[in-house]
Amino acid sequence: MNDPKKPTFPERSVLFVSSEVYPYAKTGGLADVSSALPQALREFNHDVRLIMPKYGFIGEKKQKIHIINRLQGMDFQVGDTLATVNVKSSAILTPRTRVQIYLAENEEYFSRMGLYSDPNTGIDYPDNDERFITFSHAVLGLCKRLLWKPDIIHCNDWQTGLIPLYLKEAMKEDPFFRGTKTVFTIHNLAYQGNFPATSYPKTGLPLEYFTPNGLEFYGNMSFVKAGIAFADAITTVSETYAEEIKTKEFGCGMEGLLNKRKKDLHGITNGIDMSIWDPEKDLNIVKRYDASTLDIKEECKIDLCDSMNLPYQKGTPVIGLIARFVDQKGLDLLVEVMDPLLKSGAQLVVLGSGEKKYEEFFTKQMKKHPKQVGVYLGFHDNFAHKIEAGSDLFIMPSAYEPCGLNQMYSMRYGTVPVARRTGGLADTITDALEATKKEPATGFLFDKYDGKSFWKALERAIGVYKKHPAKWRELQVNGMAKDFSWNRSAHKYAELYEKLLAKP
Ligand code: ADP
Repeated sequence: MNDPKKPTFPERSVLFVSSEVYPYAKTGGLADVSSALPQALREFNHDVRLIMPKYGFIGEKKQKIHIINRLQGMDFQVGDTLATVNVKSSAILTPRTRVQIYLAENEEYFSRMGLYSDPNTGIDYPDNDERFITFSHAVLGLCKRLLWKPDIIHCNDWQTGLIPLYLKEAMKEDPFFRGTKTVFTIHNLAYQGNFPATSYPKTGLPLEYFTPNGLEFYGNMSFVKAGIAFADAITTVSETYAEEIKTKEFGCGMEGLLNKRKKDLHGITNGIDMSIWDPEKDLNIVKRYDASTLDIKEECKIDLCDSMNLPYQKGTPVIGLIARFVDQKGLDLLVEVMDPLLKSGAQLVVLGSGEKKYEEFFTKQMKKHPKQVGVYLGFHDNFAHKIEAGSDLFIMPSAYEPCGLNQMYSMRYGTVPVARRTGGLADTITDALEATKKEPATGFLFDKYDGKSFWKALERAIGVYKKHPAKWRELQVNGMAKDFSWNRSAHKYAELYEKLLAKP
């Protein structure tokens, strides 16, 4: 018998395409989503398969990668280069999740140690166009070699933007893909994959698409624009961001096209993988706890202070920040509020890397205030968990935030977020002063993008932490009780797939 509460959908074949998937490769939230959403979709009995590039740092042994004979030696013409792709398979997610993972291997393009840029210089690879054209060919080539026709090809971010167009072209000649529908999900519209017009011939596409109605973007060719223009449906990762990107302020030049396609544009707020981010079971943290044993969280704070060489002081708030150091994350506002923050006596723990000006700023602050500021420059998964568990507050003063995952991780760990009301932050946090019966308070929000407004929210949060422990505990417990599981969002994607497949 079917569970009456569990919706049933017809079984569908879904190919989920992403340039990063946790735990294989990760630079940000896209990797987390690309791991968790396919698993959640599997719950609806869909045959969900994942494909990503096989980067040089992905260990064959560690990730249990094996060859699939019939997926070897696929040749694609990319400009003057004949790119040979071997698709391999990895079994590390499959036993638990039953999601088949394919890795597209190409010595020249993907065997490097960076995903999009040289890890030593931080400079984007100059042949990213060729790399992701090759990847796009491999995605469709894989289906044909397998004689496996997906009902849905779900593309993510600019790296996959050409696929809906290639599919449209392929379908003209070839009945194989007839009926296959595409979804293009925008995780961050600011990353567009724009290349000079001279890149266009490398796509092998006819000139008719290189127009403002196609993928031409002010004389350049834009991968993201191709995705927006040619996918059957476009989604983005929160309801608020779906509205924001239709405006000039957030649209990054794509607002005209997005308005034209607004009927096909949907905001579906991300969930989180509640099994990886779970303070009750997390082996990355020194002690495990839940909402009824929140006092134990203090031990995680002591451990965090210890790891960061900060003196632990009972009653002193520890403020956490984990971010790529880019302007998007509102780090200039943090620079502005640094003085009052330090004067308040609070401690700050920072994990991230990126723009040199911020790396230098945080390092300088740490040297000047070794008892109050702890900084780790780099990417460190285990440390990210320690910060979520050991901090009292978590800050996200973002200029824009398509969804944001860290605020949800924070709430799950009883760490109260202080964030700007934008994108997914607006959709997932309820300010302490705006609680309703349905939406209990979980954090602190501010509106205006300036240091003064940020400090007001942070000061408010520090005040509640120091003077109103019962209220603070309530905020923590409310956050921990929130259901951020993928189930609800995956259900919305599954509904969208059905809607698309019902269309002729
Ligand atoms: P974005 O995708 O814009 O970077 P999100 O909040 O959506 O922001 O997701 C960021 C993800 O990357 C989170 O899982 C976060 O913990 C992780 N992350 C970011 N920087 C680091 C870092 N330096 N070390 C470890 N994890 C990081």
